[in-house]
Amino acid sequence: AKDHGKGRFATYDQELDRRSVQHAELGAELRQAMGSGELRLMYQPIVSLPEGRVSGVEALVRWHHPERGAIPPTEFIPVAERTGLIVPLGRWIMREAANQAARWTTNPLTSSVTMSVNVSARQLREPGFPEELAGVLAETGVEPRMFTVEVTETAVFESDAGLAALRGVHQLGVRVALDDFGTGHSSLGLLRSCPVDVLKVDKSFVDGVTGTAEQAAIAISLVQITNTMRLAAVAEGVETQDQANTLFELGYQLAQGFHFAHPLTPEEVTGLLIRTAAE
Ligand code: C2E
Ligand code: CA
Ligand code: CA
Ligand code: CA
Repeated sequence: AKDHGKGRFATYDQELDRRSVQHAELGAELRQAMGSGELRLMYQPIVSLPEGRVSGVEALVRWHHPERGAIPPTEFIPVAERTGLIVPLGRWIMREAANQAARWTTNPLTSSVTMSVNVSARQLREPGFPEELAGVLAETGVEPRMFTVEVTETAVFESDAGLAALRGVHQLGVRVALDDFGTGHSSLGLLRSCPVDVLKVDKSFVDGVTGTAEQAAIAISLVQITNTMRLAAVAEGVETQDQANTLFELGYQLAQGFHFAHPLTPEEVTGLLIRTAAE
């Protein structure tokens, strides 16, 4: 029995080793990728339901690896967080998104679009994060109120440093969004202790809006809470017209998802903004 146990542990160790080697490789490659144009940002529209217009966009990072092809962010962001590479990567993302936001500001047909950027827990906790963000906005000339930082509840919940940084961000006039709301170590109390402007209601709750009363309950409660607290709510992962109609009836003003648009190139977003502004 002892041998059997040992054997199992050996296999487990090998599996761990194999995975950490893969992570180390991916980490090294990511470091290179940052300087080589393999990373790009795509922008997914956030749509105003009453007006049917693009109100803002969320920046989503893409990695086109020369040999491995497209590596999804769900694969490399966690590696970047573990290796600390998220700090320089996050800096690059922030600057790139601000530069793009600044380009849209120069044209009256595109100037009303807001920019949301995902910030991971590690990046938020990095000393000087709010000051750095202030610097990027000042250099690019982007108005703080046109910029949103998306963080998960867990990022705020886990550390006092995270919460302190969010207060700093909010003081700049930058908007704060809680991402994937309801899926983390959430507590509704966070809505009072944390300077929140926007709740992004996770897709898992949006999926339920056209289902039974029980399946729809959380999406219904969350929009009521946000309306009472004067926060904005964004319904995430909307895939059907039926869901969009129901969300609007429930009081949602903003939505995002493949039903409206997939993540797009900056040129595609510009085209969409110009077309809808002309309508
Ligand atoms: P997220 O912040 O919740 O981003 C939304 C994800 O849902 C995106 O996947 C988007 O393409 C996808 N999505 C949007 N609409 C729909 C829909 O209708 N149906 C379905 N099934 N999916 C939809 P993506 O781009 O693969 O990003 C995955 C996650 O990776 C993000 O989740 C975020 O946590 C992380 N991530 C992406 N870009 C960045 C970044 O620049 N920085 C950081 N720190 N994390 C990022
Ligand atoms: Ca997000
Ligand atoms: Ca989300
Ligand atoms: Ca998510």
